[in-house]
Amino acid sequence: MLLKDATVATLDPPRVERTSLRLEDERLVDRSPSLAPAAGEEVVDLEGALVLPGLVNAHTHLYSALARGMPGPDEPPRSFVEILERVWWRLDRALDEESVHLSGLVGAIEAARSGTTVLFDHHASPSFVAGSLATLRSAVERVGLRSVLCYETSDRNGLPGRDAGLPGRDAGIEENRAFLAGGPTALTRGMVGAHASFTLSDESLERLAGVVRDANSSLHVHVAEDRADVEDCRVRSGTGLVERFRRHGLLTRRTLLVHGVHLGEPELQEAQASGAWLIHCPRSNMNNAVGHAPTVAFRRAALGTDGLDEDVLAEARTAFLKMRDAGRSDAFAAAFDLLVGGHRLAAAAFGLPLGRLDAGAPADLVVLDYRPPTPLSADNLAGHLLFGLDRSHVRSTMVAGRFVLRDRQVTTVDEAAVFASAREAAGRLWERMRQP
Ligand SMILES: [Zn+2]
Repeated sequence: MLLKDATVATLDPPRVERTSLRLEDERLVDRSPSLAPAAGEEVVDLEGALVLPGLVNAHTHLYSALARGMPGPDEPPRSFVEILERVWWRLDRALDEESVHLSGLVGAIEAARSGTTVLFDHHASPSFVAGSLATLRSAVERVGLRSVLCYETSDRNGLPGRDAGLPGRDAGIEENRAFLAGGPTALTRGMVGAHASFTLSDESLERLAGVVRDANSSLHVHVAEDRADVEDCRVRSGTGLVERFRRHGLLTRRTLLVHGVHLGEPELQEAQASGAWLIHCPRSNMNNAVGHAPTVAFRRAALGTDGLDEDVLAEARTAFLKMRDAGRSDAFAAAFDLLVGGHRLAAAAFGLPLGRLDAGAPADLVVLDYRPPTPLSADNLAGHLLFGLDRSHVRSTMVAGRFVLRDRQVTTVDEAAVFASAREAAGRLWERMRQP
């Protein structure tokens, strides 16, 4: 296939060029402004439309795809822990196989429509643990996206009123282990998931570390999202959070530390020096009123939507505005670097040059109906990404050489039928959430 006459913009380093791209199977094989169609080759004339590498969502919860518009708790939560207890832990306990499958389909469709091609998902469904990651994989692969999946292991004890979840913990550890043992597929990888320090005992961390070691994998965990996590860690282990994970051998290359809102600068430096990544989720942090992450110390970092949606451009814009609001003069570069970080993280996870649109790179790209009223160049690409572009411009999304969205139509699944099933399943899910 020849994608003719595109305005190709890549971020690492910033580069904008009017050119054509040739693909074969899942890869780009040629790039030049002067490519002529070969005999029998399908030609897609983009007439100068903008093409970006597919965007990367470095932390999401597909399981919350059916939460949009759900009734709130009877008593409004007054703290972050109460938000978990009264909203998210009621939702995840009510999930069954059908709702997990539909959440995966809906979330992946939303991602494709947002130009997001890679999802790092953090999954929890305590009433349907064994096989939940394979269920999600089949949904996301049916839509046609890449994902890195893990199960959010948690004791959920130590919190008053919670049912002690050690069988649930063991099932979660086993689900991570079994999924990793099944090996990667073309589009999917595994990680080892854990909820957060404050819902995991030392024994649980040791057992997770065993899975990380045996599978040569790494941990994906919420860290210092709220001050309660920091305080719990002090009481529980007499240390900071990064030190607690380090002691248990969980601070390894490509560990994903999500949020880091209440980490100090020395901790952030130690974590990043160890090869861990910080995942910044500014809209979620605002939504939960947990504070603003110290992004000035984020170097090895990427953006996550934390399940609010799959819209990475919206996350980037919010990250930028929060940094400006905090008085940072380098916010353009810093927000842009978070998008670049997503590509670097995904490239490392898949062992592929994701984020590049040169010969040899995977054909993972987004076509946008974006014809700006001002010049677009490598020098001002950040300005266009943060002030101009949004998901409404996404016309087509391609993953591994296959259009999953083409001219605004999802090509891989019947979107209307999926959404109709999802609306029915969401009603039943919300009903189950009301049960004690
Ligand atoms: Zn999260």
